[in-house]
Amino acid sequence: MSTCAHLSAVTAVKSAKRYECSECVKLGSPWVHLRTCQECGTTLCCDNSPNRHASMHAKATKHPVVASAEPGERWLYCYPDDGFAEY
Ligand SMILES: [Zn+2]
Ligand SMILES: [Zn+2]
Ligand SMILES: [Zn+2]
Repeated sequence: MSTCAHLSAVTAVKSAKRYECSECVKLGSPWVHLRTCQECGTTLCCDNSPNRHASMHAKATKHPVVASAEPGERWLYCYPDDGFAEY
């Protein structure tokens, strides 16, 4: 388990406003799990989903940290550093 400065910078965790991947909804594509970007609050699909929108969003926008949007899961993940933290 590793942590990084990005994870330390998250003080108030943003939760999902809508329980869906906005990009997959546009495409009519399914997703597996959901992640919420901690910079802009966008909820997108995980790396097990066909389109991996959360990962692509992190790369494209340089928004490094997501929180799990799954009910009952309380953890943060940093894509560039492969960092993980529970909260
Ligand atoms: Zn990081
Ligand atoms: Zn998606
Ligand atoms: Zn974002």
